[in-house]
Amino acid sequence: MALIVQKFGGTSVGTPERIKNVAARVAKFLTRGDQLVVVVSAISGETNRLLALAKEVQPEPDPRELDVVLATGEQVTIGLLCMALLERGVQARSYNGAQVRILTDNAHTKARILKIDEQRMRADLAAGRVVVVAGFQGVDAEGNVTTLGRGGSDTTGVALAAALKADECQIYTDVDGVYTTDPRIVPEARRLKSVTFEEMLEMASLGSKVLQIRSVEFAGKYKVPLRVLSSFQDEGEGTLITFEDDAKMEQAVISGIAFNRDEAKITVMGVPDRPGIAYAILGPIGDANIDVDMIIQNAGVDGMTDFSFTVHRNEYQKALEVLNKQVKSHIKASDIRGDPKICKVSMVGVGMRTHAGIASRMFRTLSEEGINIQMISTSEIKISVVIDEKYMELAVRALHKTFELDQPA
Ligand code: ADP
Ligand code: ASP
Ligand code: MG
Repeated sequence: MALIVQKFGGTSVGTPERIKNVAARVAKFLTRGDQLVVVVSAISGETNRLLALAKEVQPEPDPRELDVVLATGEQVTIGLLCMALLERGVQARSYNGAQVRILTDNAHTKARILKIDEQRMRADLAAGRVVVVAGFQGVDAEGNVTTLGRGGSDTTGVALAAALKADECQIYTDVDGVYTTDPRIVPEARRLKSVTFEEMLEMASLGSKVLQIRSVEFAGKYKVPLRVLSSFQDEGEGTLITFEDDAKMEQAVISGIAFNRDEAKITVMGVPDRPGIAYAILGPIGDANIDVDMIIQNAGVDGMTDFSFTVHRNEYQKALEVLNKQVKSHIKASDIRGDPKICKVSMVGVGMRTHAGIASRMFRTLSEEGINIQMISTSEIKISVVIDEKYMELAVRALHKTFELDQPA
């Protein structure tokens, strides 16, 4: 007998029929004698609909009230799934985040999970019930409803698995695992049998939305056995997220390509090349709570230099405002330029540690396609470039081909 946490994403609960299919799958695991905790997302499109609705009423919605609205999507699906289970004669009970007591901090719309009470879930499991929990939501110490950021149901699933010390956390979605890149962009993309936790963390943080990054962080911290599977297939092993020590690694140098259109580039031109400049520029940006991703400062010429960095596209206008109001005249910059139409394309693989020449092959491929690289950043297991957004798909396809990611390792 195993304790399994299963999470079903929005498409997987997208229609009454699909909700019944989820119930059938759950019932199948029960007949094997497993205990099940099931986390569900809102019906696909619902969270977007709620967000648009909120913005119609208040263009910049109050974060506390926005969470109250957004959290309703998942409340619908937990109830419906329990009905589908009861209809099959399976005992089940639904809980929203506050009822379980998924305690979070109070950072509305991007709250972090601090603690999970397991008592109630354990009691239900012991009584032979399936526990169905709303993803994406929690409650802060004052009792306010919070949400965990887009894609946050993954994190609910993994966090519950960690709290319950589940034997496995299964993330059911509309693809049958983690692929070498988004199969919607590259049809030749190949499913990975396994991917290391480190690689998954990079891929998620660099834009592969198949798993929310915080869910991967949780899995790493608590060593949760995590698997991504299709909710539309009855069989299939999906992709297992492994921890390098116990991993039987597929010996690929590159595991995957991630991409992200969510960033914007800002360049502060003609700033004096002297100590304190990075701080003078990024200090006010940080004070305005704007996260910075890539940063480039060129070697100075005649005591002057340019300073570029990227921010999330949602915060682009705010960042420009901060720079124009608080920084430009203060440091005597000649100009501030911005470009919101960029994207970041990244190659990820633990094999890069032991293989040289990956970067040059990547740059060569992009040059052969006539794609200009605007920024580069590297770590031990990834190389990222910033390019014009309009070349994103071309770049991803070309790199996928050059590195033969469609071929088994
Ligand atoms: P869910 O609603 O089940 O949470 P998501 O839409 O959040 O599903 O995530 C699944 C989607 O992630 C897939 O449909 C796919 O388009 C996208 N995706 C991006 N990168 C990858 C990748 N490397 N492997 C698999 N899917 C990916
Ligand atoms: N429903 C939420 C969203 O669309 C959470 C999730 O699906 O994981 O972001
Ligand atoms: Mg998701």
